[in-house]
Amino acid sequence: MKTIALGLMLLLMIDMHAIAQETPKKYEIAEPPKCINNKGEQVEFRQHNNTRLQVAAGIANRDGQGIPFVVRVNYAFSPLEFQSFIDRHECAHHQTGDVDRPHPPRNGSEHLLNESISDCIAILRLRDEENYGEDRLKAVISAMRTDMTKIGFPKISITSRISNVENCYKRDGSPADFIEAIKIRRAQNQ
Ligand SMILES: [Zn+2]
Repeated sequence: MKTIALGLMLLLMIDMHAIAQETPKKYEIAEPPKCINNKGEQVEFRQHNNTRLQVAAGIANRDGQGIPFVVRVNYAFSPLEFQSFIDRHECAHHQTGDVDRPHPPRNGSEHLLNESISDCIAILRLRDEENYGEDRLKAVISAMRTDMTKIGFPKISITSRISNVENCYKRDGSPADFIEAIKIRRAQNQ
């Protein structure tokens, strides 16, 4: 199975935890970022809405024709900053080549590491390419906490994900440097 996506996991979990809620606030949809995968291919962004699930999520994969894509699910339910974060998180799965590698066991350590790496690339891109300051970092984190709580993630998963994002935001070096370091590390481990 090729799909690498916290998004998909979220969707599956939302299905199990679906709760009826009052009409939520709707947000404007962010402009998708530039996204080129590790093979130099253009990644397409596609919208998908499922009104039953009132949480934004993303999925990274290739379609039947082999075109790499990101599905943007229910973006209108999350603030612009979090939509932008999910876009770059899913793009990172293409940039690191996760999408073309066999999927590690779900929620195993390798899977969680891939998720942390994608989160890290996402926040570095927002910092360096979109000039996100502390205020917008906080907006990302706050939406992340809200959505993960809504879905029913345990508190420990939420706090560890958030602290990873905060630590990455303080890292030296560009997102491109970080991606390069990941590729080198993975090549050494093969
Ligand atoms: Zn992911």
